[in-house]
Amino acid sequence: MKDLLQYLDASPSRFHAVDNLKKLLEAEGYQTLSEGTAWDLTAGGKYLAVRGGSALAAFRLPEKKAQGFMISASHSDSPCFRVKQNAELAGPEKYLRLNTEKYGGMLFAPWLDRPLTVAGRVLVKDGDAIQTRLVYVDKDLLMIPNVAGHMNRAANDGFKYDPKCDMVPLLGLDGEKGTFQAIVAQSAGCKAEDILGADLFLCPRQKAVVWGAADEFISSPRLDDLQCAWGCFQGFLAAKESGSVPVYALLDNEEIGSRTKQGADGTFLEDVIARVCAAAGMDRLAATANSFVVSADNAHAVHPNHPEYHDATHRPAMNAGVVIKHGVRYATDGVAQAVFASLCEKAGVPVQHFANRSDLPGGGTLGLISTSHVSVNTVDIGLAQLAMHSCVETAGSKDTDYLVQAMAAFYSASFREENGRFILD
Ligand code: ZN
Repeated sequence: MKDLLQYLDASPSRFHAVDNLKKLLEAEGYQTLSEGTAWDLTAGGKYLAVRGGSALAAFRLPEKKAQGFMISASHSDSPCFRVKQNAELAGPEKYLRLNTEKYGGMLFAPWLDRPLTVAGRVLVKDGDAIQTRLVYVDKDLLMIPNVAGHMNRAANDGFKYDPKCDMVPLLGLDGEKGTFQAIVAQSAGCKAEDILGADLFLCPRQKAVVWGAADEFISSPRLDDLQCAWGCFQGFLAAKESGSVPVYALLDNEEIGSRTKQGADGTFLEDVIARVCAAAGMDRLAATANSFVVSADNAHAVHPNHPEYHDATHRPAMNAGVVIKHGVRYATDGVAQAVFASLCEKAGVPVQHFANRSDLPGGGTLGLISTSHVSVNTVDIGLAQLAMHSCVETAGSKDTDYLVQAMAAFYSASFREENGRFILD
């Protein structure tokens, strides 16, 4: 659990979330492949590729010819505020504010009255080339102040926040033009005029914490989906060699529909599969038929103050195991459920089930989107959490370990179908 908290704290943006896993994989002997060169792979080799700086795929080739792929996919992004290109808003009065826009569907209120900063990447001039530098301004830099209750008398009566007005963060007083650029450049270790492009996002300064009468809970920014990303990653590393290729995928832009080159609606995952098949002499169509995808994205725990929002017979609890998600917005079907539940049973991991209350549509996941590109049996799962899409979310402190065990069992297995019989070996 300590390692999850460290990963959350060290990953204030999607670019950091990917870079941290890349470094851990390289320390484990994984070789980084470039998408811009041909892939020369050897049996027993361990590899990774990064797309767009914010998506990563890692895999191992077994010693014997593989029959298929055992894949997990989670997402690196979280709902937040993106810093706009012309970022500084001078005034009113002597205030200097930062111009931002919504990224994904977040709860607004939790972003107010708490220290914030910016994280992401900048693209810096480097001779004839352009270099990427990760940015995390390591100070309490920004705040979005509430309006006093004396002035906004409606504040406690279902107040509607306006993102262009209520959610604008305050950066300084008497700030000169260029203040923000100078702060970012200093953090990136370059000159402000050498920054040619940027992808910067607001992030809360709060660290991940364990809390509760018996340390039952963890709270942190970005638990959705870095908790599942981490649990799948640890399971991937811990797995034994099977007759299939284990693939760990972390994809970006799930919160805005996945339709980017590094999102689940891009070709990253199918490109990796195609290249592995070509390099390892696998029949691509047969190999994909013998494959299985776990789409891992957090699930809703029953809320202590609002248990009525859950379906009558699908009520996930924290610290009670991995949640399988069912319904029209998820990829899970009976086969996927049966396969994943049987792997969990083998691993001694409890399983719970989630379905939306029939009048609440709920959110989608990357499961169905990924299935439209890599059309294989797919299960949607998650870990139970509270306050999804708040800037600080809460989950059970024991559930990450359940996911690690389940995914270690998943990645140690192979999957194939023979005339309606599904075989895990
Ligand atoms: Zn998510």
